[in-house]
Amino acid sequence: MNFTMAIDLGGTIIKIGLLKEGQLLDRKEVGARAASGLKTQLPELEQVIDEMMLSNHLQKEDFMGIGFSFAGIVDSLNNRILSTNQKYDDSPETDLIGWAREKWNWPLFAMNDARMALLGEWQYGAGKGFTELVAITLGTGIGSAVLIGGQLLIGKHFQAGNLGGHFVVNHHGTLCTCGNIGCLEAEASTWRLPSLLKEYPEFDQSAIKNEEVLDFRALFHHAGNNDRVAIKVLDHCLSAWAAGIITMIHAFDPELIILSGGIMKSSSAILPALQKKVNQLAWTPWGKVKLVEAMFPDSAALYGADYLVRSSLK
Ligand SMILES: [Zn+2]
Repeated sequence: MNFTMAIDLGGTIIKIGLLKEGQLLDRKEVGARAASGLKTQLPELEQVIDEMMLSNHLQKEDFMGIGFSFAGIVDSLNNRILSTNQKYDDSPETDLIGWAREKWNWPLFAMNDARMALLGEWQYGAGKGFTELVAITLGTGIGSAVLIGGQLLIGKHFQAGNLGGHFVVNHHGTLCTCGNIGCLEAEASTWRLPSLLKEYPEFDQSAIKNEEVLDFRALFHHAGNNDRVAIKVLDHCLSAWAAGIITMIHAFDPELIILSGGIMKSSSAILPALQKKVNQLAWTPWGKVKLVEAMFPDSAALYGADYLVRSSLK
């Protein structure tokens, strides 16, 4: 009885992992229907989990429990989803604990996905051996989580360390989805990039204008080809990410920052530039905070779920 099941409920895909003592033994992905809620998606998840047990010759009695990552504010003491942001909006009324108990008789442990991914990287990945960590996801939005003294930073309302994407980096900046102005993710994220490009007066003359999808892959490609607009926008994004990271360094005093997310697929173009800015601008008289890539950019939350279930039952 030392297997765990992990679910990482993302906005576009849901990852399901079967783990044993820090080893990811099997994984499946299903398309997310985040707009139509969580309840309607549960039967499909049940089916995938049952099939995964069958194909691995396991019974429900072989499992310690289920770890559940969610992109929203999660009460990880009571394993309840408190607040969502236009994804799975029925989650706060969905009884996940009852679902896992009735279906498999498993305990369920829920956590915000950025915190879960930080747990995975800390225990098994890039953050192994550290006690002071910040993990940042650069993608559609920007997520963050913090470990201080070997403890996850949670806070009274379960928000502490999670809102790094909503640190203000430009108080004259863009209106964010959260209602604030000039948040990091409103200045430099995948959702913001198309409008950021189109706002440049020379956009109509630039080569990037002909791209079907205005994403970071296209931005790095055209900046590499010396497109003036792409270079300017990339520089803007690098400065915004550096400002956000430096604020997180000043707020949380980490030794290491672990970066992941879709934008980091171009990490060779990002990491050295960000490290240079951090070295120049952060106030850390004890030394330099190191920026590294996640070891499991695609599955850290599954590893974290395994650790959470096992450490919660100890
Ligand atoms: Zn915001």
